[in-house]
Amino acid sequence: MAGRILIVDDVATNRIVMKVKLAAACYAVDQAENGAEALRAARETKPDLILLDIMMPDMSGVEVCRALKADPETATIPVVLITALSDQEAKMEGLEAGADDFLTKPVEEVTLLARVRSLLRARDSVREWQAGNDTVAAFGFAESAAGFSARTAPGRIVLVAPGPRGAVLWKAAIENRIGGDIRILPREAALAEASTEEEAEHPTDVFVISVDLAQRNEGLRLLSDLQSRPGTRHAAVVMILPEGDTERAAIALDLGANDVLHDPFDAKELAIRISAQLDRKRQSDRMRAGVKAGLEAAIHDPLTGLHNRRYAIPQLARMLERSGPGPAIMMVDLDHFKQVNDTHGHLAGDEILKQVADRLRRELRAADLLARIGGEEFLVSLSDSGDAMDCAQRLCQAIGEAPFDIGEGKAPVHVTVSIGLAHPTHDKAFTTPEILIHEADTALYRAKSKGRNQVSIVADTAA
Ligand code: GH3
Ligand code: MG
Ligand code: MG
Repeated sequence: MAGRILIVDDVATNRIVMKVKLAAACYAVDQAENGAEALRAARETKPDLILLDIMMPDMSGVEVCRALKADPETATIPVVLITALSDQEAKMEGLEAGADDFLTKPVEEVTLLARVRSLLRARDSVREWQAGNDTVAAFGFAESAAGFSARTAPGRIVLVAPGPRGAVLWKAAIENRIGGDIRILPREAALAEASTEEEAEHPTDVFVISVDLAQRNEGLRLLSDLQSRPGTRHAAVVMILPEGDTERAAIALDLGANDVLHDPFDAKELAIRISAQLDRKRQSDRMRAGVKAGLEAAIHDPLTGLHNRRYAIPQLARMLERSGPGPAIMMVDLDHFKQVNDTHGHLAGDEILKQVADRLRRELRAADLLARIGGEEFLVSLSDSGDAMDCAQRLCQAIGEAPFDIGEGKAPVHVTVSIGLAHPTHDKAFTTPEILIHEADTALYRAKSKGRNQVSIVADTAA
């Protein structure tokens, strides 16, 4: 089933007409004939969308909408208000109550179905990100994800109209109502936004685009272009169409416009619709950032900020797959570190681990892999294995040459490392990360038994 829709109307005929249209498009349809019933049904069946008549005897549609949006159980269900009146006041009130759109009776089928598709699509993408966030939380990485708070910077809005005059009028209509950074751009400049570096850092939140620009339908083409580019793919688009152009409004929604509005429009309505898109954009930005932060946390060690074992092993496998001689790897293990902890305390030990990580990182190149794969064990994989022995000696020296500062009033602590170095065997095809690590471990063991603070090598020995 394409989705579940709740129709709320006090007149049975209205419900039936709507139901026929929606059922024909394969939606599952529930009905309610008054506000109280609608609220109950919404909680019970969790529809994907609610079509809500405004004029009802017990509770007005606007009141029902307000109640739905105030209840966390139903707040995210999109609501489309439906009225026979072209009452602008009621319309504003409804949009302010959180309604996602407004349709006027008799509801045209194309418009209705395009709206339904667009709202259901928006809802699916929210759910997808929500699922990502839940996964991140379930794996225990929510801490860093939750640290990402709502972006408080003002919204960035770009207006693209056929002539300079139109956009100036739009801007005047909205700027006192929503503030933020509102710019008027010609089509080419709006497109160029998508690829500038500034755009990547401060992307446009909402584009308001006229369906016709220099040429007919050029606004629709711009919509598709913006959606295909990484810099603008997540931006919301509000498409402005001539009055009565319901056919192209449906096309715009199907092409991915988040909202459509017919010109001439009420300034307040445009402002409310843009604000709603800004809110939605911020919510999805937040969820996306949460997932990203969670993924970052999953592959990093929180103490040193280095990559962890989960990242390192598959990365090493990828390095082995590349052509060329293959990476040299090292196991770097702190010497007598238990004793360091016992003498100076665990906190001092942690501080030393962090500084060891910094010193190792400083000696390596960006393309080298450095990961903390055990308590006091680091894995290094060199992108260029040619000078591996020199590099290992350098790392050993970088740790041992100067003591580590463990805080004011305390004597710095001398720490050394032992390093086991392994090259892929002559037949790289048979080398796996596990084999390589095992060899480096064997070499490390030898370095430890020969007195520590030194490098030992295993090369071309194992199969
Ligand atoms: P060896 O030279 O043979 O490697 O001796 P060692 O003491 O370093 O080796 P062992 O494996 O016996 O002990 C490792 C110690 O590392 C034990 C543990 O207290 C310490 N360690 C492991 N992870 C951490 C950590 O996250 N923080 C601190 N402070 N210490 C850690
Ligand atoms: Mg050790
Ligand atoms: Mg160890």
